[in-house]
Amino acid sequence: MDKPKKRKLPDWMSLTAAENGASQRAADKDFDLIRHLEESLPTLEFPKSPVYSYNKEDCCLLCDDILENLQQENSDCFVGFDIEWPVLYRRGHEDKTAVLQLCFLNNSCYVFQLSSIGGFPDLLEKVLFCQRVKLVGVGIENDLWKLTRDFHINFQPLMKENVVDLGQMANRVLSTSQLWSLDSLTKHLLRHKLKKDPSVRTGDWRECPLSEVQLQYAATDAFACVQIHQELLERERQGR
Ligand code: ZN
Repeated sequence: MDKPKKRKLPDWMSLTAAENGASQRAADKDFDLIRHLEESLPTLEFPKSPVYSYNKEDCCLLCDDILENLQQENSDCFVGFDIEWPVLYRRGHEDKTAVLQLCFLNNSCYVFQLSSIGGFPDLLEKVLFCQRVKLVGVGIENDLWKLTRDFHINFQPLMKENVVDLGQMANRVLSTSQLWSLDSLTKHLLRHKLKKDPSVRTGDWRECPLSEVQLQYAATDAFACVQIHQELLERERQGR
């Protein structure tokens, strides 16, 4: 889930007027221009159909496949990671994780609907804990805390060396110190925008089966994570 964060201006649309102490009106004008530029970006779409599972049997078969493929890998496998849950705006209450998405470098994206699978299958846990797997995501530590709370499984050991937080990586590679969201990273690094339809984002992720729109939304978030990570690796290689 990509929580809306405080608005921040990407470098490529740098605000010179405000920096130079020009009037607020000039800055507002720049702000309008930036909004216009952002809106004109193409929308990022996951190019394939996600693999969707909503019962334990299917989930375990898929995880078996994933684990078998991982065994053939001889290097780290960076996997886009994201979760979704229904946002009900009840004070002091946060709903349980309903969906978990994993997107691999070959663009296989799995959408596991945990709410209908009923719990967190052992084999899926095994995939996350696989030594070869490095989960890449935005605010990934918070997500792992949430999974730990929701399913009473300790995911904290993963934080040591099995996860890459894309916000932190972006700040390191780009020499910035910003609070990045998945949306702002997508704009800044992939020059695309995410389709953030609020009715989908805050929709009911427990509804089974998920709609095509929900599936695409969920898959695109995890896909964006993988793409952003690749872009950051490339920039790191080039020393930018
Ligand atoms: Zn998401």
